[in-house]
Amino acid sequence: MLLSIVYDKFFIGGQWVNPSTQQVIAPINPSTEQPLGQVPEGVEADIDAGVAAARAAFDDPRGWSQWEPAQRAEAMLRLADEIDKRAEDFRARVSSQNGMPVAVASQLEIGYPSTVLRYYANLLKQTSFSEVRPGLLGGEVEVRRKAIGVVAAIVPWNFPQTLTMFKLAPALAAGCTLLIKPSPETVLDAYTLAEAIEAANLPAGVVNIVPADRDAGAHLVAHPQVDKVAFTGSTAAGRKIGEVCGRLLRPVTLELGGKSAAIVLDDADLNLDQIGQGLFGSTLLNNGQTCFLGTRVLAPKNRYQEVVDAFTAFAGSLKVGDAAAEDTLIGPMATARQRERVESYISQGKAAGGQITVGGGRPSDRDRGYFVEPTVFAGLDNSAVISQEEIFGPVLTIISYDSDDEAVRIANDSEFGLGGTVWTTDPERGAALARRVHTGTIGVNRYIPDPAAPFGGVKASGLGRELGPEGLNSYLEAQSIYL
Ligand code: NAD
Repeated sequence: MLLSIVYDKFFIGGQWVNPSTQQVIAPINPSTEQPLGQVPEGVEADIDAGVAAARAAFDDPRGWSQWEPAQRAEAMLRLADEIDKRAEDFRARVSSQNGMPVAVASQLEIGYPSTVLRYYANLLKQTSFSEVRPGLLGGEVEVRRKAIGVVAAIVPWNFPQTLTMFKLAPALAAGCTLLIKPSPETVLDAYTLAEAIEAANLPAGVVNIVPADRDAGAHLVAHPQVDKVAFTGSTAAGRKIGEVCGRLLRPVTLELGGKSAAIVLDDADLNLDQIGQGLFGSTLLNNGQTCFLGTRVLAPKNRYQEVVDAFTAFAGSLKVGDAAAEDTLIGPMATARQRERVESYISQGKAAGGQITVGGGRPSDRDRGYFVEPTVFAGLDNSAVISQEEIFGPVLTIISYDSDDEAVRIANDSEFGLGGTVWTTDPERGAALARRVHTGTIGVNRYIPDPAAPFGGVKASGLGRELGPEGLNSYLEAQSIYL
């Protein structure tokens, strides 16, 4: 279906403003390779206009940052309602741009972002932004927690609305203003968000949205009027952004790549009727294009073949198809480039001596679209390239281990440290083992980032945390007034 959605302005300062050039971004449907529409492409001048609007809104002495928290919470709840009203629009736009199956989008890109927004609106009711402490040297000290300022929010294409909201909700709660830069692959849903913000009547300039490529993104990161950068994306881009922020002494949150372990313990129940849904959500969700997935499956040596058979059956049972079809569980890779990358890793896995037990190619019944079959590799160890590097596609590697200690050692033998899971019939044993894994998050028999708890990674998976009260903290800075 050709949607052909066309926008010709940016949402800046509460208005629809003309772009500074004729350049456009034209997203492609990765299921059909058909064009979906177009939006203007932001360049440096447009980024400057967006930052100026966010700056003016932040510096307004009676503006958003100075509002009572309860007043901000009210506006955030209005926005959550406006987002929910547009659920169908978000679902269709996200799924047609990045290939996320609509069944997956319905659970993660729809409902979840407004849940995060409502969580932070409600958290404001329990949060104190100022306290007076007795000083040690006489007198008192007022300790305030002030909004950090203008936030540059840079988001990737894989969960465009959810990952935008991981930044937008706590930043709004703190009293910050933002310029959001969506990724060029997913721009249409960003316009739905702009329409929701307009309808919710947020003050002009509090949220500005300028879709642009990475060069304009780099301009935004280094912009002198920006106070904090919040980035989700690849580790390579995160390192560059971290370097710039280091030089500028600018606070930055980096949510980067991952190569998590799904540790199957020797007592695990491998009945797919019981665990299939949880396994899907933690190993192959969103066509494998999810940062926290446990794509290294660690299997006890004495049950190795059983685990390989279970994962082969599991991956082989997932319906591959057009992301718009309700029964699709695995859609296409988001772009042709992304498919090339995944296929190159499959070739490297084969060249290293890995055995493909299911998948490994393009589905024979699809002559269009950037599809890759769900693929399982057996017979490789943790040192293989495909065990170490993030593939960002539906490819799992099953690695054998001897003991729980060795499973922990292999799980931690990674450049990354974002997520992971432990599969066991003994949840206490699972939690004890999970505590030994060096990652920012991990689940026992399931994995769902909970808005109430901090989310983020260690090592090359990033710096700082989003979600939970910790997520709000990263948009605040302390000021001590010696009274
Ligand atoms: P990417 O890093 O290429 O791009 C992400 C965003 O950053 C895009 O908006 C892009 O335009 C922008 N960008 C790229 N380089 C930039 C620079 N130097 N300065 C400013 N902006 C820049 O990543 P991608 O291909 O869009 O996304 C996939 C990657 O994101 C995967 O590696 C995945 O693991 C990671 N990811 C991480 C998380 C997490 O929470 N840890 C979540 C989702 C995705």
